[in-house]
Amino acid sequence: MVSDVINTSELHKIDPVFGQLSFDNHEQVVFCNDKDTGLKAIIGIHNTVLGPALGGTRMWQYTNEWEALNDVLRLSRGMTFKSAITGLNLGGGKAVIIGDAKTQKTPALMRKFGEFVHSLSGRYITAEDVGMETSDMDIVRDVTPYVTGISESRGGAGNPSPITAYGVFMGMKAAARYKFGSDVLEDKTVYVQGIGHVGEALVEHLSNEGANVVIADINEERLQAVSKAYGATIYRGSDIYAEEMDIYAPCALGATINDDSISKLKAQVIAGAANNQLKDEIKHGAMLRDRGIAYAPDFLINAGGIINVYAELEGYGKAEIMRKTENIYNTTLEIFKHSDENDLTSHYSALRIAVDRIEARKKEANK
Ligand code: NAD
Repeated sequence: MVSDVINTSELHKIDPVFGQLSFDNHEQVVFCNDKDTGLKAIIGIHNTVLGPALGGTRMWQYTNEWEALNDVLRLSRGMTFKSAITGLNLGGGKAVIIGDAKTQKTPALMRKFGEFVHSLSGRYITAEDVGMETSDMDIVRDVTPYVTGISESRGGAGNPSPITAYGVFMGMKAAARYKFGSDVLEDKTVYVQGIGHVGEALVEHLSNEGANVVIADINEERLQAVSKAYGATIYRGSDIYAEEMDIYAPCALGATINDDSISKLKAQVIAGAANNQLKDEIKHGAMLRDRGIAYAPDFLINAGGIINVYAELEGYGKAEIMRKTENIYNTTLEIFKHSDENDLTSHYSALRIAVDRIEARKKEANK
């Protein structure tokens, strides 16, 4: 046995890619290096059964390469299911660039990255993620057509965040209908954690509907601005999860739904924009179900952004973007129904439906 001769803590070094915990039958992982520009990037292509693998590029100062690799594996897998459940003909992919976006991102580095994307001949299509701006995608566009999220002046679909927020709002309304018997959010107390691009637009929808909105953020300036613009109450406490609320909307970081938060949570509905909200998909999904909390799966309700960039590939306009995003309401209701009928968590139900769609397409292709 390997563990007889080698310290098991070293095992991750023996199986550098296929052996990683986040590896889930990814089709292709591409390591990109360019000495002149300092580019070090990893492109993860998880699955291309439904179409080319589309997903953003994240530039982040990872502590080490394992962290970068695991991030790209995890994120690209998430994109596969997001597109599948949304009914888009796209596969799942993602890219990470290792480095500080503020100090190490240069036009030459972005161009070189674009060349690597181009070398994959369209199997991977990139877009914006953390550390990227529309102007960076414009540079990538100079060297490859396999990029979305470019400027509107160059044919892009523009800022995805308001569309993402609208989809989250639709998912939240559907979850409210399932849990409270009505999708009217008037007088419901909703805590929005993180009022950045998506969170702020969500606050606007909620305050228009007459919800009692409480906002939390680590950025004081944003708190003041958003509170002033929409009349939202600023949260000043130290343990948001223990507060009395009807709905919790995580719109900042992932993994906020965990042993600790679930043990305190009084919210009956969770619906937010953040990716990977469940620290452990299986365990924490089950804990929410046991406690009767309606969890609207993150990868389903935050798909507005990808619907927006998909329009660039398919050439449809704003009306179709809004129609597809509004449909998140129906899909969320279907997921709750499916999870009750099959005694599954809502997260697992959404994954199941996404996987079934991929499997059906595979079967069709092999006929
Ligand atoms: P953003 O960076 O504009 O906003 C994030 C906000 O969260 C910031 O205001 C930040 O100060 C705040 N924040 C950070 N740590 C916090 C903490 N510990 N407590 C409270 N607030 C904190 O990001 P965004 O574009 O609004 O995206 C929000 C989330 O939604 C992210 O998880 C992102 O991955 C996800 N998402 C975004 C889109 C999109 O279209 N922008 C699409 C899908 C998913």
